[in-house]
Amino acid sequence: MDRKNLWAPWRIGYIQGIADKAGECFLCREAAHADQHGTGLVLLRSRLSIVVLNRFPYNNGHLLIAPLRHIADLTEATDEEMLDLMHLVRDMQTLLSRAISPHGFNVGINLGRCAGAGLPGHVHVHVVPRWNGDTNFMSVCGDTKLISQSLTDLLDQLKEAAKTPGIQKPESRSQK
Ligand SMILES: [Zn+2]
Repeated sequence: MDRKNLWAPWRIGYIQGIADKAGECFLCREAAHADQHGTGLVLLRSRLSIVVLNRFPYNNGHLLIAPLRHIADLTEATDEEMLDLMHLVRDMQTLLSRAISPHGFNVGINLGRCAGAGLPGHVHVHVVPRWNGDTNFMSVCGDTKLISQSLTDLLDQLKEAAKTPGIQKPESRSQK
């Protein structure tokens, strides 16, 4: 994603939060709490990966998809983990398209702090929905638009959309 164009001032809280809690991995924490009702922002969990709603999004519906295993880099991922991860990238694009109708997506991975990774110890794929003109609108109205839907409402909406036909359930897929 291009952070020069997407204006997201609340990300400073994310950066400071990471600095304040050095050593704590929020993806591992979310994965550990995935089965507890009301904790975290976990959208779903497959056998080897987890999908989390980004608490500090670049845009509405910004998802993070990560291997469950705490690995810093794709070079440490197994073929099975890579396949599971990319299946989820595909399925989450389908899910977001159905739920919130974006015009496009940014899909990317930041590896290392110098490349913009806020959590360099645990590799994750960003899936960021985009709409025509969103950068222009955001630069004027900022969080008025971006926070128009609360994260918990959005999470409920996406979980509901995941029940519709066509979205493969990662659990059932990984058992094939
Ligand atoms: Zn981790």
